[in-house]
Amino acid sequence: MITSDLFIAGGGPAGLVAAIAARRKGLDVVVADGAQPEIDKSCGEGLMPDALATLAELGIELDACAGQPFYGIRFLGRDSSVEACFPKGVGLGMRRTVMHGALVRAAERVGVRLLWNSPVTALGQELLKVGDETVCSRYIAGADGGNSSLRRWAGLDARVSEGLRFGFRRHYRVGQWTDHVEVHWSSGCQIYVTPIAPDVVCVASLARVADLRLDQALPRFPELERRLRGAEAVTTERGGVSASRHLRRVTRGNVALIGDASGSLDAVTGEGMCLAFRQAVALGDALALDRLDSYQSAHARIRRGPALMADLLLLLDRRDSLRGRVLAALESRPAVFADMLATHVGEWKPLGMVWPLVSLGWGLLTV
Ligand SMILES: Cc1cc2nc3c(=O)[nH]c(=O)nc-3n(C[C@H](O)[C@H](O)[C@H](O)COP(=O)(O)OP(=O)(O)OC[C@H]3O[C@@H](n4cnc5c(N)ncnc54)[C@H](O)[C@@H]3O)c2cc1C
Repeated sequence: MITSDLFIAGGGPAGLVAAIAARRKGLDVVVADGAQPEIDKSCGEGLMPDALATLAELGIELDACAGQPFYGIRFLGRDSSVEACFPKGVGLGMRRTVMHGALVRAAERVGVRLLWNSPVTALGQELLKVGDETVCSRYIAGADGGNSSLRRWAGLDARVSEGLRFGFRRHYRVGQWTDHVEVHWSSGCQIYVTPIAPDVVCVASLARVADLRLDQALPRFPELERRLRGAEAVTTERGGVSASRHLRRVTRGNVALIGDASGSLDAVTGEGMCLAFRQAVALGDALALDRLDSYQSAHARIRRGPALMADLLLLLDRRDSLRGRVLAALESRPAVFADMLATHVGEWKPLGMVWPLVSLGWGLLTV
């Protein structure tokens, strides 16, 4: 029998950071994952400054030399572009496998018990198994990703909304041309470029159709295609699903969901891991107080701001003419874009987005 205060199904970024947060509160924590480190995943591989700040709160410092810092975000449309630097801190482009290795070592250092190649299965409600062993834990967390089995077993699958997009990523060795994450926009598809080493970029596409592979998407972005022409592809293409999923509840009884298992925002926000890390801190706090209900409300609070940004960005994805006008308006008012970025990566305040949106609205009337 596996006994613990907190048993976490899934040792991806959410599970590992939640384990560290709970361990720092004195809980005995076990994490079981069906795969083994270093676990890869289709991802834009950009950690925003707020994600790094949340990790730092938990004593996790990622080695910047194992990745590549970036200083802001640049949007590029067909006829216009706009960029802004982060108001505070820098982001970090880091290969998913490298980040996973670093989180595993951080979890080991604080005494989390890690079980790899150990898929969690259910044997009826409220009985979890890892291999032949039964799990007996005061609390259980589902950090088993967007397709979470734990969510289903716990009866937490009821959702407010759901939308899917499909991503593909590949790494290219190429002379560095950007110290910002670039988001290239075209009709029905975006491509993200994240510098992850002095001579390597991660290129990830996102589209509503499932079969738009990178090689088919790139011709929609002639400038980017030109930069990548002849560049060596250093990894094979990897696909993934980006879900916008809003669940009714993320806790039930002694079970809590975290990370993509607990609902997710479209990857266009670049905030997936930051949300997971913030949820990890909130879950640790709630467990330390023995008040899982407070995690439910904290989870909703953490999601609110980034969810609004995701809605706005997905509107630009859906409406080509609106996107053209918004990018043109932002190009002529870069300070508005800077305000929006600052709100996105800062402490979310309900009125934080009002002024940038009013300015943008005015800009739209005058472009
Ligand atoms: C195309 C794309 C680009 C993205 N770009 C970014 C970005 O640039 N920045 C960013 O912050 N976020 C990005 N995201 C989002 C980010 O990848 C996710 O938010 C993040 O991976 C969530 O982490 P997680 O630990 O919740 O889930 P996952 O990373 O999916 O980890 C889940 C873990 O659970 C394990 N597991 C599953 N089932 C079981 C089981 N039954 N038993 C045991 N273990 C199990 C899996 O092996 C896995 O290790 C992107 C997503 C996509 C699709």
